[in-house]
Amino acid sequence: MISFENVSKKYNGGTPAVDSINFTVNKGEFLVLIGPSGSGKTTTLKMINRLIPLTTGTIYMNGKRISDYKIDELRWNIGYVLQQIALFPHMTIEENIAIVPELKQWNKEKIRNRVTELLDMVGLDPILYRNRRPDELSGGEQQRVGVVRALAADPEIILMDEPFSALDPISREKLQEDIIHLQRTIKKTIVFVTHDIQEALKLADRICLMKEGKIIQLGTPDELINEP
Ligand code: ADP
Ligand code: ADP
Repeated sequence: MISFENVSKKYNGGTPAVDSINFTVNKGEFLVLIGPSGSGKTTTLKMINRLIPLTTGTIYMNGKRISDYKIDELRWNIGYVLQQIALFPHMTIEENIAIVPELKQWNKEKIRNRVTELLDMVGLDPILYRNRRPDELSGGEQQRVGVVRALAADPEIILMDEPFSALDPISREKLQEDIIHLQRTIKKTIVFVTHDIQEALKLADRICLMKEGKIIQLGTPDELINEP
């Protein structure tokens, strides 16, 4: 579970990028942050895993302040998927996926089995793909690897920042379906940033609408659609 209490962020003393926001993401919930460009979505997301320090307020993960976690403990518990995933080009797909499991010193067999399972999950044949390098995969395939890499060491929370926006419509739809399937089966807590309302309606348990650093609405897709 993640809670924001009166969280604000100002870059260089300008107007607040995030302005005193309060919300909770429940365990196993798929929360979508939506809003126009510059409304503070990415800043909100990056504060959760301490990529950006807060100016004021407190964020809690499972009841404990995120500032009280060791940074490794926090990052290992939080998978992060960027818009432009950056796989390491000189490493194979298997090596890319295994980065966090290796840091956690899982044994070789466990890592190998996990890589097989993850590639299967997103429809990439492990036999064909595990030893390829990123430049031998299409953009959509690389993005799928980026998504499962964030899941590799079984984090509790997954943060996704417009992970599908660089994709063609077909790859995008496929990945949206993958992520819905993953969320239903493995019940992860997901915070997902997008500016695409159709994507938000399709994926979200609840949608958090941001504007100028503030939360202006928070509710289920039905509640938001039926608002007068
Ligand atoms: P969104 O993800 O909704 O597009 P951001 O969180 O990226 O919004 O940005 C919110 C505001 O903060 C914008 O006005 C943006 O220009 C500003 N901002 C974001 N990152 C920085 C930064 N590193 N330095 C200064 N201002 C920033
Ligand atoms: P998409 O339409 O999904 O972007 P591409 O047309 O780029 O796919 O690629 C189609 C297939 O060719 C994919 O299965 C991909 O793995 C393979 N492929 C693409 N680029 C390379 C490459 N440089 N080397 C080997 N296989 C590749």
